[in-house]
Amino acid sequence: MGQTHQKFLSDIRVFGCSKCHTHLATMSSMLSRAFTGQHGRAYLFDVVVNIEQGEPADRQMTTGLHTVRDIYCVKCGTTLGWKYDKAHVEAQKYKEGKYILERGLICDVED
Ligand SMILES: [Zn+2]
Repeated sequence: MGQTHQKFLSDIRVFGCSKCHTHLATMSSMLSRAFTGQHGRAYLFDVVVNIEQGEPADRQMTTGLHTVRDIYCVKCGTTLGWKYDKAHVEAQKYKEGKYILERGLICDVED
């Protein structure tokens, strides 16, 4: 951890890891606020940077079976949410390759 070069984002609003403020995603890449994570509200993003991905695992969700990978902050290792590898329900395919960040685990970053 901490050896990877971090990317710095610039946008109207930048979201970062609540623990170490590493940049993760921008307002422009947010697709939806209407998601629920393991700890409450969560956001769906098109692009998330400065993360490490865990092994794929099948997870049964309210919207059906999904193959997901947990995602971790590259700097402090905090679990931030997950990435959708595969949606097994046709109507949920739009989520494939997209990321969930839990609202309680991210914060607004001032640059
Ligand atoms: Zn962090």
